[in-house]
Amino acid sequence: MSSVTVCARFRPLNSKERRDHGDSPCIQSVDSENFIFKDGKEEESMFSFDRVFYQESLQSDVYDFLARPIVQDVANAISGTIITYGQTGAGKTYSMEGPSILENKDQNKGLLPRVVEGLFECLKLDDETIKYTVKLSMVEIYMEKVRDLLDLSKDNLQIKECKVLGVFVSGVTEISITDAAEALVHLSNGISNRTVGETQMNMESSRSHCAYIFTVQQESVRDTRLKTGKLILVDLAGSEKIEKTGAEGKILEEAKTINKSLSALGNVINALTDDSPGRVNHIPYRDSKITRILRDALGGPSRTALLLCCSPSPSNAAESLAKHIKSTPRGNRSSEKVPRKQLFPSPTKDESCQRILDKLSEKMK
Ligand code: ADP
Ligand code: MG
Repeated sequence: MSSVTVCARFRPLNSKERRDHGDSPCIQSVDSENFIFKDGKEEESMFSFDRVFYQESLQSDVYDFLARPIVQDVANAISGTIITYGQTGAGKTYSMEGPSILENKDQNKGLLPRVVEGLFECLKLDDETIKYTVKLSMVEIYMEKVRDLLDLSKDNLQIKECKVLGVFVSGVTEISITDAAEALVHLSNGISNRTVGETQMNMESSRSHCAYIFTVQQESVRDTRLKTGKLILVDLAGSEKIEKTGAEGKILEEAKTINKSLSALGNVINALTDDSPGRVNHIPYRDSKITRILRDALGGPSRTALLLCCSPSPSNAAESLAKHIKSTPRGNRSSEKVPRKQLFPSPTKDESCQRILDKLSEKMK
């Protein structure tokens, strides 16, 4: 059974939010798992997560709680996934990369540089009975097309499966890395390719999912037995609501596609963590490219961590919490955590990305 950790992170208010709405964030910390939402208009309400990271939280706090256990597992050939989720501007990329991927001495460095350092620290490289191979691939999924961030000429890669290799992106660039510094150089190249895409293709990066795929192989020198752990970090496309009226053409198509893939991811996580007697054994990986790519890392005895990134401004992401508060009076809440299977209640056919954000926030219901 997979284990899933769901955390929320509030970034500091930015200068525009301060200017427009004053200095007060709309959330009040209760403790490390609970916060109260208030924006002055709605009834106050409490939300609960496995861990809440408030504005003053450090990047190292996020890594230690959410990523370190996964990295340790991957070094022992147990796969894992780390996903950042939330609206554009909420702090997904900041959490994932930090202000600059190459500033590896910076205390603000994000999950990616910490993960590669942690991984190479965990691998027992001085053990002569094991041969380690760490490979890195980076892909971006835009409108269900998979593009290689380490080689932009590969812009429509196919995802394939086979018994020996499991799921793989056919033809994707895979770079062998031998230490953290080398990994950071390649990550930085891939990330700058993403930014090139952004200006050329009209901010597509916030409308695309980005996956950083680490494959860690350990081969026993004695009996050539091979063990593989996959670690995938995903910076998901912005989950903002696109109003049905108003959005048209390309924006509407993008929104529908993102919506569909986020729902598919929700369904897969739901199915994987459903331990009810009547559960269906079929896991619907095939419903989107992102779930197909994540198949090996999510399935089996793996660990998954979701970081829901939010703005603390009443005008922003909190709007989604406000919507939720209207429909759920405080008296109906219990302080018990919801069973894992309810993390992503089955989305309806036209469920918007926003609703998944709401569902994540509804954890306490
Ligand atoms: P997203 O990737 O969700 O669209 P970003 O990560 O790009 O959002 O964050 C938007 C802005 O907010 C960036 O300028 C980023 O530096 C800043 N930011 C986000 N999270 C934090 C944080 N925890 N501390 C300081 N600045 C942050
Ligand atoms: Mg981003």
